[in-house]
Amino acid sequence: MAALIQVDGLAKDYQMGSTLVHALRGVTLDIAAGEFVAVMGPSGSGKSTFMNLLGCLDQPSSGRYRLGEQEVSQLSSDELAQVRNRQIGFVFQHFNLLARTSALDNVTLPLLYNHAPLAERDARAKKRLAQVGLAERMDHHPAQLSGGQQQRVAIARALVCDPQLVLADEPTGALDSHTSIEIMALLQQLNHEGVTIVLVTHEHDIALFASRIISFRDGVVVEDKANVPNDAAALLIKT
Ligand code: ADP
Ligand code: MG
Repeated sequence: MAALIQVDGLAKDYQMGSTLVHALRGVTLDIAAGEFVAVMGPSGSGKSTFMNLLGCLDQPSSGRYRLGEQEVSQLSSDELAQVRNRQIGFVFQHFNLLARTSALDNVTLPLLYNHAPLAERDARAKKRLAQVGLAERMDHHPAQLSGGQQQRVAIARALVCDPQLVLADEPTGALDSHTSIEIMALLQQLNHEGVTIVLVTHEHDIALFASRIISFRDGVVVEDKANVPNDAAALLIKT
């Protein structure tokens, strides 16, 4: 399979007062289109730094990052913003939805930057909300939804610009275990439809739903192995 992501010697330093923190110390790996990768590692090992670089939220101190046909490490901040909006969907631990805004408007939001006409924005957002099982709750505000439902809204929002890549940093970190498995079933379904997923998790049980597990320690990759993924949907039927 073609590599969607190619990183080579990727490093990131942060200046903290008079000390330089080496958050990432040279990561080299490829991720193919269609993979489902779990990133694991202790707190402070560089997982979020790596995800921020993959997500074009930050630029590396050194090294290269290629996403599809583009050499991302050379892009201007405007070009990075465009890559983020068009090619990448983000899912966060705490959902990051706008509180006073309906599920539908939350999902529509990324399309505003895409200059899509209103009717098209509406249709695309409704399609994604239906896909995550929330067709009936589009008018609800986040406070009227459970944690799992809010994360579904966030996933619909991540998908509305039809990204090839979804980056999820601890997406089940704020959810109970049954709801976590429901969210993983949804991510597995999206992956089967062809979306490449990179997910950070602390929980080994969650990582086992991915088909590849990459472990970080002190800013480097210490393990990178294939995994026969557990089937989240099958697990839900049993419990
Ligand atoms: P993880 O997500 O695995 O917990 P991070 O990537 O957040 O790890 O952090 C890796 C290292 O970089 C840690 O030592 C952290 O304190 C440091 N770090 C992360 N972000 C910043 C920042 N914006 N400024 C300074 N240091 C940072
Ligand atoms: Mg982190």
